[in-house]
Amino acid sequence: MKGTMFGKGARGVFLSVGVMWLVGCAGMGGGHGPGAGHFDTVIVDAGHGGHDQGARPLRGRGLREKNLTLDTARRLAKSLRSKGFHVMETRTGDYFVPLSRRTAISNRVPNSVFVSVHYNWARRSRARGVEVYYASLRSRRMAANTLREMLRAYPAANRGIKTARFYVLRHNERPAILCEMGFLSNERDNSYMQRASTRQRLADRIAAGVAAERDGRIP
Ligand SMILES: [Zn+2]
Repeated sequence: MKGTMFGKGARGVFLSVGVMWLVGCAGMGGGHGPGAGHFDTVIVDAGHGGHDQGARPLRGRGLREKNLTLDTARRLAKSLRSKGFHVMETRTGDYFVPLSRRTAISNRVPNSVFVSVHYNWARRSRARGVEVYYASLRSRRMAANTLREMLRAYPAANRGIKTARFYVLRHNERPAILCEMGFLSNERDNSYMQRASTRQRLADRIAAGVAAERDGRIP
């Protein structure tokens, strides 16, 4: 959910993916840009927390976004460690962490990438599926690598990779992505999201996507 994701006073300006694609292709050859470069550390960011509760599940069926992101982030951290990454978590409990502190943690750590996890919400209950956001060209390939893996976690609609000026992406000096793992406002997505087994698969697939990026895989 993006309601609190721009930060105080910031305006969300969406760039069209089509424009980014053209820019990305010019002189890049592969179309996905240069990639994230060398990294051995992953900053895992569980969206929301404390009074910032994030999205509500449809008709109150199940946990709220802040609880689901924390659970998924903890699973993701474990999965990444098993793949040999150093992991830092921006929060490990149900408390509020300002967006500026989340990026400050990331910007202190060299050789790192930043992965934020969220669940989505829309007024239109038919909206469903997964999408991955990025802001810098060197984050684009990681977004594509991660999206490809997320689509294997559950039968999800593919909403693609997209650029957005979300605070945690825009103020990040490190390659950074934001994963929207499904819509809590959609009956089917929500029933998947509320299952621990789906969240485990999402965590494992996101970890696989980050590992693919480390290994320089072309999506
Ligand atoms: Zn969110």
